[in-house]
Amino acid sequence: MDVLLAEGDADLRTLRRESLGYTVDRGMAGTGVVASLPGADPSRGIVLRADMDALPIQEANTFSHASCHHGVMHACGHDGHTTMLLGAARVLRQLPQLPGSVHFVFQPGEEGGAGAQKMIDDGLFERFPTQAVFGMHNWPTLPAGEFGLRTGPIMAAGVRFRITIRGKGAHAAQPHLGLDPIPLACSMVLQCQTLAARHKDPVAPAVVSVCMMHAGDTDNVIPDTAELRGTIRTLSSAVLNQLQDDIRRIGDGLAAGYGATIETEFFQYYPATVNTASEAALCEQVMRDTFGDHATHADVPPNMTSEDFGFMLEAKPGAYVLIGNAPRGETGVGLHHPAYDFNDDIIRDGVRYWVALAQAYYVGPRRR
Ligand SMILES: [Zn+2]
Ligand SMILES: [Zn+2]
Repeated sequence: MDVLLAEGDADLRTLRRESLGYTVDRGMAGTGVVASLPGADPSRGIVLRADMDALPIQEANTFSHASCHHGVMHACGHDGHTTMLLGAARVLRQLPQLPGSVHFVFQPGEEGGAGAQKMIDDGLFERFPTQAVFGMHNWPTLPAGEFGLRTGPIMAAGVRFRITIRGKGAHAAQPHLGLDPIPLACSMVLQCQTLAARHKDPVAPAVVSVCMMHAGDTDNVIPDTAELRGTIRTLSSAVLNQLQDDIRRIGDGLAAGYGATIETEFFQYYPATVNTASEAALCEQVMRDTFGDHATHADVPPNMTSEDFGFMLEAKPGAYVLIGNAPRGETGVGLHHPAYDFNDDIIRDGVRYWVALAQAYYVGPRRR
């Protein structure tokens, strides 16, 4: 493989899908693309998944490869993920046939669009028989050349919520003639924090963030309504469900206590991204064999961000890993930041990981 990726080899970033010789399936989840490398037994298969979408952020970088689309940039490095998986598709096609198939899945809509679930709904696993799924994300706080993973939850489950508090408007100087929703909204915010701190198991991570609070239009009118919006992130669906029930109950209690109406709505986001033990162990062994023990962080802490690969991991065993993105000697700019940059120096390592993983899955890890 290293011969195939020798220095001076064709620039992976300029490859066109059509040039790789694959027949591609297009259209799942709208713009999803799947290229499959048939194995000796087509009933066996693994998914290697890259997300493709960008973010509605105005890029602050001025280098030549900055986004040329106003207000849209690859601030999460999904263009790099796509490039690395294209590289793996190219290399694996030139190697001897594997016992089972490798499905290269290029997925749209990770950033809030639940593209992974949509591809599953569109028949991904029926059209491409799959026993295990694997994903990878660049990670700016990890140095380039290093990898991280963990068994169990690596990213959080989340829901978004909207709480609408309806009281009764009045003159600011005559609050007794109305029902002021603003103190109730403030109480809701504080009680949400108490839930996270005092009502759930302290060793079960959870974040309840009220991120938007809106009420009123001027300084001498008590408004009719107040609205809160925010998100809950947890590492387990049980804790997520418990916190939703708790918030709803507190809203109902406050409403009853003050004679207001409080409507609590939850909008499903993503499940937790939970790595299964044997697949995570395989990925770890591939990292150690390919990049060395010093470059393998086998027990990174879970992160409270969310990732729609969690849907694929609810359906199939598998593992989601992190590839270091920080330039050597520097701290990488964070994901979703207007100055973020995918580090092209990690493309080669990402391709090597994917190729070694596919081989290890079917024929066992290479031993040093
Ligand atoms: Zn992102
Ligand atoms: Zn991302």
